[in-house]
Amino acid sequence: MDKANIAGGQGSGRPQFWQLARCCCQLAASVDVAFFFLFHLLGSPILAWINVVSVAIYMLAYWLLGARYNGPAIILIWIEVIIHAALGTLLIGWDSGFHYFLLMFIPALFAGMSRRNAWFAVGALWGYYVGLYAVMWFVEPLQPISPAGLLGVFLFNLTVVFCMFSYLSLFYVSTVSASQRALRRMATIDALTGLFNRRHMSDLAEKDIARHGRNPGELSFLLLDIDHFKQFNDRYGHDTGDRVLKRISTVLAQTLRDQDYIGRWGGEEFLVVLPGTDRDQAIRTAERIRCAVEIHAWVFEDLHISVTVSIGVTQYRAGENLGAAIARADMALYEGKRLGRNRVEVGAIEAS
Ligand code: GH3
Ligand code: MG
Ligand code: MG
Repeated sequence: MDKANIAGGQGSGRPQFWQLARCCCQLAASVDVAFFFLFHLLGSPILAWINVVSVAIYMLAYWLLGARYNGPAIILIWIEVIIHAALGTLLIGWDSGFHYFLLMFIPALFAGMSRRNAWFAVGALWGYYVGLYAVMWFVEPLQPISPAGLLGVFLFNLTVVFCMFSYLSLFYVSTVSASQRALRRMATIDALTGLFNRRHMSDLAEKDIARHGRNPGELSFLLLDIDHFKQFNDRYGHDTGDRVLKRISTVLAQTLRDQDYIGRWGGEEFLVVLPGTDRDQAIRTAERIRCAVEIHAWVFEDLHISVTVSIGVTQYRAGENLGAAIARADMALYEGKRLGRNRVEVGAIEAS
């Protein structure tokens, strides 16, 4: 069983988050090494040695995260920060700024737990923070250092917290952007062929209808269908069928101009949109595609096969909707199949 899932709770399925936690361990250990020397210089050996313990804890947490014991690692980090913040504050005072490190946990809590638990933990953290503040009202620092030293520690802590928050914010923003990009890709791209999917093709074609549709001869469509594709699946297996689909997508894409675009319209059917193209140019493009597919070397390891396509061509007619234009291309395609396949046929009586 996955160790991370035993220990890590809801956040355990987020590898980037645990990678970030590892980076934070490295950063925190380096900061604590710096603190070790700083507190020696400021004449506070207890705090100096506390930082040695902290470095050991962070190194252990780093190792645990590497071994995917995420839950114990996070608990260790929690304990370290909570105790370190309290000890620092109790020893040299609230103005040392050690308590700011507690705030660093708020984003991590929401990233690593269910929402309900995170609110609960944030409430507990708030209570602890306020409690520490209240204690410092009544208790003098146990091992005060000079005002200049205190200012130095405060500025150091503040700077580290600023840097860590910036790093965390960058991490969250880039994670969200990457997820949005992945979602956008999933919503627009066909997973097998890498071409646009049907929904995105419809959106793009509607936009081109709005842009070019009023000018006759400015927009054409091709509907392509692989001939006898079912036979590939039956004879060579579904995987080979998939490979043909992938390969044909590349062949088709290479045959088109920059402004043309292609999408997977159905199983083994593709739609090509040709902006700024009249019927005759569209027929020439279709013929070029048909030839490119026919002469392509369809070799898969030891397997040599022959692949052809039939293509229905139509020029968009002002005022009609996308469905009507595609239906006409589909009828032309059907005619191509009826007349023997590996053909280009034109949708009935084009208006110009
Ligand atoms: P025609 O020349 O009349 O177009 O004949 P066809 O065999 O190409 O047409 P048919 O509609 O009978 O079969 C289409 C086949 O395409 C059936 C289906 O299993 C296959 N197919 C659809 N999508 C996929 C896919 O993603 N991968 C594979 N391997 N096959 C697919
Ligand atoms: Mg077919
Ligand atoms: Mg078909």
